[in-house]
Amino acid sequence: MAAASMTEIASIIAIDGPAGSGKSTLAERLAAKFGYLYFDTGVMYRAVTLAALRRDISMTDRTAIAALAEQLDIDVRPPSQPDGRQYDVRLDGADVTWGVRSQEVDANVSVVSMIPGVRKAMTRKQREIGLRGRVVMVGRDIGTVVLPEAQLKVYLDASVEARARRRFEEARRQRQPVDFDEILTSMKERDRLDSTRELAPLSVAPDAVVIDSTVMTIEQVVSRVELLAQGRQ
Ligand code: C5P
Repeated sequence: MAAASMTEIASIIAIDGPAGSGKSTLAERLAAKFGYLYFDTGVMYRAVTLAALRRDISMTDRTAIAALAEQLDIDVRPPSQPDGRQYDVRLDGADVTWGVRSQEVDANVSVVSMIPGVRKAMTRKQREIGLRGRVVMVGRDIGTVVLPEAQLKVYLDASVEARARRRFEEARRQRQPVDFDEILTSMKERDRLDSTRELAPLSVAPDAVVIDSTVMTIEQVVSRVELLAQGRQ
């Protein structure tokens, strides 16, 4: 047997980091390369936020939002349309793949994800999926809380300006009307809320490999993490 095929690839790969650091592209490529499941936990918090907004539940009503999180049916499946989506997100059966990406959800998701009842419900489901193995799971607290047993933990970072620029370009490609300063301001606020919250804040796990992608191409980041997953670096 060739030496390369004998290398054992990490079965649970956790990728954490702030918004726009390139986590989802990295995870999608790694999962395709290794034949693993790619699971983006952010969409679950986004789906709860969208559901609360649609039901006109006040963002300060933590009890109602936690109860909603417990009862919602959130499903993530392979993409059904060739419109640039990485996966389908279904909320109680309806396709909300693009709905969960709206600026209104962006502006409210960090407040929703702070609610202990919401985190408990989401973490339980994520852990169940992650522990099956052969998975690349992406989020803010995967290496620290959801799957501390992950064999490889990557914390992907980049300057806030570079991250906002990427989001801006992405939105422009999708012909969405966007304003760079608005994206930058909302991203800074989301960073602040995500990293200062009491429960499962965005933080670097002690055994994570930190990669700063500010001046790296996605290809460079992917190659680096591929080697790490194969235990070759
Ligand atoms: O990754 P994405 O930008 O889609 O995440 C949206 C929001 O969901 C984050 O800003 C954060 O508030 C929350 N989140 C979280 N824990 C995760 C993933 C996302 O709190 N594991």
